[in-house]
Parts: sequence; C-alpha cells; structure tokens
Amino acid sequence: MKLVSILGSTGSIGMSTLDVIRLNKDKYRVVALTAHSNVDKLVQQCIEFQPNFAVIGSSELAKELASRLKSSPDSATQVLFGVSSLEEVAQLSDVNMVVAAIVGAAGLLSTLAAAKSGKQILLANKEALVISGELLMNVARDSGADILPLDSEHNALFQCMPAGYQTGLPAKGVRKIMLTASGGPFLNFDASELKKVTPEQACRHPNWSMGKKISVDSATMMNKGLEVIEASYLFDFPADNIEVLIHPQSIIHSMVDYVDGSVLAQLGNPDMRTSIAHALAWPERIESGVAPLDLLKDNVLNFSAPSYERFPCLKLAFDALNTQGTAPAILNAANEVAIDLFLHRKIAFTDISSLVAKVLNKMNVVSAGSIEAVLSVDKEARAVAFELSEGV
Ligand code: NAD
Ligand code: MG
Repeated sequence: MKLVSILGSTGSIGMSTLDVIRLNKDKYRVVALTAHSNVDKLVQQCIEFQPNFAVIGSSELAKELASRLKSSPDSATQVLFGVSSLEEVAQLSDVNMVVAAIVGAAGLLSTLAAAKSGKQILLANKEALVISGELLMNVARDSGADILPLDSEHNALFQCMPAGYQTGLPAKGVRKIMLTASGGPFLNFDASELKKVTPEQACRHPNWSMGKKISVDSATMMNKGLEVIEASYLFDFPADNIEVLIHPQSIIHSMVDYVDGSVLAQLGNPDMRTSIAHALAWPERIESGVAPLDLLKDNVLNFSAPSYERFPCLKLAFDALNTQGTAPAILNAANEVAIDLFLHRKIAFTDISSLVAKVLNKMNVVSAGSIEAVLSVDKEARAVAFELSEGV
C-alpha cells in the first residue's frame, strides 16, 4: 500500500489522480488532500477517501470545512489551513508520494518541502521547476527524492529515456528532445482575430480538459515555453537541443531522438490519467480508465513548426531559459499576472505576451541560487507587471 498526499486535489489534475486511485484502491491510500477555496468539492473528496488531513486556504474556510465534516458519520479527517500546512502534509513521515498539482507559484514551497524530505514527487506543478529549476533539482538530488513528471510531454520523455539518463543525455546517445504541442484553440487564427478572443474561447481547448490558467497558457503557447524550461531542468539538457513541434492531434505526447537515428515516442489518447497512472505505479503498470488508442480511427498525425511571430510567448520562454538566473522566474510571475488580468477582461489576449516581454525588459536578472532570492524576484515581477499593465 502506497500512502499519498495530493496537493491541489480539487483541480483538474487532482481529480484525475483521485479517479485513478479509485480504480486502484487496494494499492493507494490517500493521507492528505488540499484545496485553495472549494469547500464543497473538498468535503465530497474527504467523505469518499477519508484522508487523515485536509488543508484549505484560510481559517474561515477551515472552520466551515471542519463543521461540515463533523456532521458526516465516521469522518476522522483533521482540518488544517494555510501555506505552512501544505508544507506539513508534503513532509509527513509516513507519506511515500506527493502529487504536486497546485497551479502556479503557489505550489512552489510545498513542492520544495516534498523534495527536501525525499518523497517521490509526482510533478504537475511545472511552474515550480520554471521558477527554481536548478534549486529544486539539487534539493531532490541531495535528499534522494524522485521527481516523476505528470505533464504528458515530460512523462512521455521519461518513458522514452535511456536507462541511467541522469548521468547525462549526450553520453547515453540522446541528440534531441522533441516536445509536441497541439497549438491550442487559436492555431489557425490570424493576428486581427487573436486580438479579440475572449477568456471563454481561450479556455476551450480542442483536445484536453484542464484548469483555466494552463488552458490560457496553451492558447498563447506559453505552456509549451514553460514546458521547454521544465524539460531542460528535469533532464539537464540545453535549450538548443529541445525542439517544439506542432502536432494538432495530441496523440504523440513527445519524442526522444538518438544519435543512431532512432526516435522513441510515447502515444496515447489525450487524457492525463495515463501519465498519472504511469507515475503512480512506476516502474509497474496499472489501469488508468483511459480508452485504448485506436490508430485506425485517429489515423492522421500531422506535424509543423511553430511560428514565433504568432506565438511570441514561446520565444520569450526560450530566451529566458538561455538567459538563466531569475529570468524564468520573472517570465512566470509576469505571465501569471497577465493571465489573471486577461481572465478578468482587463487586458486583451495579445497583451499577455507584450506585458511579459515588458516585465522581462525592465527587470535585472540575478542568480536564482536561493529560495529567498527567487521568492523576492517573483514578488517584484508581479508588482512590475501590475504597474506596466496600466500602459498596455
Ligand atoms: P486547476 O486550476 O484545475 O487546479 C488547481 C489546484 O490548485 C486546485 O486544487 C486549487 O484549489 C489549488 N490552488 C490554486 N491556487 C492555490 C493557492 N494559492 N494555494 C493553494 N492551492 C491552490 O489546475 P490544473 O489544470 O489541475 O493544473 C495544476 C497544475 O498541473 C498546473 O501547474 C498545470 O500547469 C499542471 N498541468 C495540468 C494539466 C491538466 O491537464 N490540467 C496538464 C499538465 C500539467
Ligand atoms: Mg503538457
């Protein structure tokens, strides 16, 4: 029996994780569940999975959660709240696995806490790696924490990597990483159409059902940019050897190109339960509930190169990765602010990339060597983004 804490259990990844666990109840026990503010969903999850701990965003919400759980028979869940409680449930001594599925920089400290205590981390919270990639990978290496990627592309790459890849990809014959991208809902929109798109259109992804922030990231292709940075830290590979390919069907989830001309790919239906089940059971395999791939039905697989002109966020991310230091943290913070403003209809869709570019231009890049430095840059970049958003 593996004991699991799920950080961000009420989100899209959190719920898909619970779906897979529901199919495999004999193998996993949920020790902790966490949510920012969705009390209704957390109550339902606590009643079904009976975790030892439930964490919510504020003391008021914790009171409401506790009183609703009290009225449910045989609930023994202890209710906690706030950031330090997220870290606490990420570090519980009897927990084997931590699913890091909080969205954005809000997931950084709890992911880092799990890494410090040597847990097996099932990482969905890509922003944590973008903001503090080197730091997080070093902490995990020192503590012996395994980081198993849930992001479908990185999970695919992980499945296609050679044994012992941690000692360096070139030495193991890897030439290139090829990340596939659906291109999102606006792949064929022209510049004038892009200016007018609404949050509702941006959140309607053609292939995947996801939280709002990553849906907008997919529409701007910042998601792929964040994933390039994620892949670079996760597999210790330079930006120059990472290629992005538009593949609108989302059947090939990514590929590893070897020096002998072999290209290994992982295929499957676009459903996050496959990578979640893979990481939960690794190195074994379990049922995920995902339908088998029918290549006779999905029999056309297309590929094309992405346009930096139409998707400037992708270029900004490559540039930030090449700059290193706190550049990726600045990119991420500015992007989180820009998306929030777009979702609240304060800026246009096309302003997201221009605002991120302006913040990157304005701020100095320093070393990302300590968590304090990274957190302070994250805070400053948010303030600068708000200030500059007045003028976009
Ligand atoms: P979501 O918005 O559906 O869920 C986010 C979860 O985080 C919720 O449980 C929410 O309560 C919690 N949360 C939000 N703000 C918080 C805060 N300030 N403090 C504590 N908890 C907070 O998001 P999602 O789509 O499930 O994405 C989660 C992460 O997984 C993101 O980093 C995303 O990039 C990554 N990811 C998602 C998918 C997908 O298919 N949804 C695929 C790949 C990677
Ligand atoms: Mg992905």
